[in-house]
Amino acid sequence: MPTKSKKTKSAGRFGARYGKKVRSKLVGVETKQRVKQKCPYCKKMGVKRLSKGIWYCAKCDKKFASDTYYLE
Ligand SMILES: [Zn+2]
Repeated sequence: MPTKSKKTKSAGRFGARYGKKVRSKLVGVETKQRVKQKCPYCKKMGVKRLSKGIWYCAKCDKKFASDTYYLE
């Protein structure tokens, strides 16, 4: 089992498969979706992605459907 390295980040789980380019593209999307996003209601950085297109804001306690991977 390959260990996750600094260089490959979240794409480390694929090992040497699928090619460097697609893996680095995926890292870009995945790191973006995991950071806190800006809430469209209270304009604060507190929105977390629960699932595909489902978002939750911890600041104003709203759950809503929006973009799939990251907001705006
Ligand atoms: Zn909010």
